[in-house]
Amino acid sequence: QVAIDATWLGADLIRPLLPDLSQSAHKGQRGDVAVIGGAAGMTGAALLAARAAAQLGAGRVFVGLLDDQAPAVDLLAPELMLRSPAALLDAQGGRTCLLVGPGAGCDDAARTYLAQALAQPVPLVLDADALNLLAATDSLQTLLRQRKPITTLLTPHPLEAARLMGVSVQAIESDRLTAARTLAQRFACWIVLKGHGTLIVSPQQTAWINATGNGLLATAGSGDVLAGSAAALLAATGKASSVLAAVWLHGQAAIHYARKHGPGGLTAATLPLWMAASWADLP
Ligand code: AMP
Ligand code: MG
Repeated sequence: QVAIDATWLGADLIRPLLPDLSQSAHKGQRGDVAVIGGAAGMTGAALLAARAAAQLGAGRVFVGLLDDQAPAVDLLAPELMLRSPAALLDAQGGRTCLLVGPGAGCDDAARTYLAQALAQPVPLVLDADALNLLAATDSLQTLLRQRKPITTLLTPHPLEAARLMGVSVQAIESDRLTAARTLAQRFACWIVLKGHGTLIVSPQQTAWINATGNGLLATAGSGDVLAGSAAALLAATGKASSVLAAVWLHGQAAIHYARKHGPGGLTAATLPLWMAASWADLP
C-alpha cells in the first residue's frame, strides 16, 4: 500500500453505511432504482446493472432499455420492471435513484434521455456511455453542475476519466488522485475512479482508496454491476457515502470468490450474490 492522501476503506468504515434490514420493511421503503441504458447489442449491460440493484436490496427496480426491439421481460430476473426510458423519466418518486449509462450508446436518443435525467431532482449515478456523452457535450456538463446539491455519482474507468478531462489515459493513471479530485471539483459531484485501487472523492474533496478486488473483476459487465449496486445502496440509504460500501463489497466479492473457487468462473451476473455474501460476513 502506497502513501496517498486518502483514507483506506475497510469493513469498519463501510458497515455503518449499509442499510439495516428492518423486520417490518416494505418494498416502498427500501428504495427504487431506475436504470436507463441498453441500446441494441448492449442490453445486457443495463440488465446486469438492474439485476445487481435488485440483488443488493432495492425495493423495486425499473429498467428503460433504449433498444426498442428488446424483450419486455428479463426472464432470468422477472422481478425487474421493463418500461420505456420515457416512461421512467416521467415518473420519479421521492426515493428513486436513477442510473444512466450502461450500454446506452451515444446517439441522440441517449443524449436526450441523459439531459432529462440530469434535470430530475433525484440522486443520479452516471456510468459508461453517460460519461462518454458528458465528455462530448458541453450543455450536459452545464446541467450536471446545476444539480448541486442533489447527489450525483460518476463512476469512470480510466479511459472514461481521460475523455472527461480531455487528457490521455497515461495522464490519468500517473496521478489518479489528482485526476479524481479535479473531476470532483469540476463537476461538483462524487467521483469513483475505477481500477485496481479504486479512488472515491466527494464533492467536498474528501478522498478514499479501496484495496479490495482482483483481476477476476476485469471482465465485461463488472462495472455495470458496481453502478447498479451503488444505485441500490444510494436509493436505500439516501447517503452518497454508501458508494464506499458498494466499491468495497464489489472488490471483496472477488476476493471471497477466489478463496472458495480459485481464479476462474466468476461472471458479472454472479458477482452480486458474492457481494451479498461478503456483506453477510462483515464483522
Ligand atoms: P468497467 O471497466 O466499467 O467494466 O469496470 C470494471 C470494474 O472492475 C471496476 O469497478 C474496476 O475497479 C474493477 N476491476 C477491474 N479490474 C480490476 C483489478 N485488477 N483489481 C481490482 N478491481 C478491478
Ligand atoms: Mg464500464
